[in-house]
Amino acid sequence: MNYKNEFIDLAKEIYGPGSISLHRPIFEGNEKKYLIDCIDSNFVSSVGKKVTEFENKIARYTGANYAVATVNGTSALHISIQLAGVDSGDEVITQALTFIATCNAISYSDAIPIFIDVDKDTMGMSPKALSAFLETHAEKIDGQTVNKISGRRISGCIPMHTFGLPCRIKEIVAICDDWGITVIEDAAESLGSYVGDRHTGTFGAMGALSFNGNKVITTGGGGALITNDVKLAERAKHISTTAKIPHSYEFVHDEIAYNYRMPNLNAAIGCAQMERLDEFLSIKASVSLKWSKFFEKHEIKYVSTIEGNKSNHWLNAIILDSKSNRDEFIEYTNKRDVMTRPVWKLMSELEMFKNYQTDGLENSLWLQDRIVNIPSSVPCGALPKRKEI
Ligand SMILES: *Cc1c(COP(=O)(O)O)cnc(C)c1O
Repeated sequence: MNYKNEFIDLAKEIYGPGSISLHRPIFEGNEKKYLIDCIDSNFVSSVGKKVTEFENKIARYTGANYAVATVNGTSALHISIQLAGVDSGDEVITQALTFIATCNAISYSDAIPIFIDVDKDTMGMSPKALSAFLETHAEKIDGQTVNKISGRRISGCIPMHTFGLPCRIKEIVAICDDWGITVIEDAAESLGSYVGDRHTGTFGAMGALSFNGNKVITTGGGGALITNDVKLAERAKHISTTAKIPHSYEFVHDEIAYNYRMPNLNAAIGCAQMERLDEFLSIKASVSLKWSKFFEKHEIKYVSTIEGNKSNHWLNAIILDSKSNRDEFIEYTNKRDVMTRPVWKLMSELEMFKNYQTDGLENSLWLQDRIVNIPSSVPCGALPKRKEI
């Protein structure tokens, strides 16, 4: 039972002495240079060429036809839900095991979440649970999918790629296509994660990315909506930029919209981060391999992707055998300055969402008591020095 002690030793071997965080940002490229360029040019806010450059980089990297940069991941989700045709009072299926942003965005659209279970291996939405829920509780009336219990229309589904591990998104999209439900992928944690050779976030009608400070790359705060649909991309750009009709001096807006555009300053950081994303990912993969070997030796479940998928190793996770062992491990490691953390409290247990429909959430409840996230950053000094471009 000395794995806890050895865990601390390995953490220090990987990350060096001092306090070890779960996920720190790294600025070892052109971030400062591009920021200074922005400031010198006066284009620091919602207009500027770094935003377009960043959007192009995101589109190229993910293989999506279009990317629209936003102020954060939550706003990208919010806009996606608006554009998916989710109306006030509709229901949106999602998972209970997710970060609060998913459900906040559903609520901003005055829609109601339904919580479906996750698979134990991917920790993302279970296609089996989704299909079972719809078969039992939904019916098609006049071409719309309606919840037999609530009488409300089910118009959207938001699966999430938990910790960067892709969920069974193809199966989810196939089920939702049959029911006429629009899929939005919460790909906030999965930049650099693939199902086969296709990037997460590009399977549904839209995907939402986040560039918060703790994500694989950061823009300080930021997000993006990605899509292959030109009409959705144009609408996303329009409603995230106050619905202003382009004109050199007149201010005419044709609907109530949002000020969700990513500022040029943030995009400048994002452009520099994207230059090094592949290096971040390969170092994170090597850290993850060290952890997986360690936990395999100690016969503790280390979470890795299912066959055929590739993870970005955003947040590494283990599954301990009981809640008490989990608590003990988290207590032990944090006391020794190695940060570890339990998973988010299930959305279905939060005060705001506790009265909404669930499918019983067997796996989610089981995982909630056992998941521990462990340090996953790129270690200091691991990134090769590069000359400024
Ligand atoms: C980070 C994250 C988001 C978006 O968060 P922002 O802080 O608004 O960028 C959304 N969903 C999930 C699952 C996340 O982890």
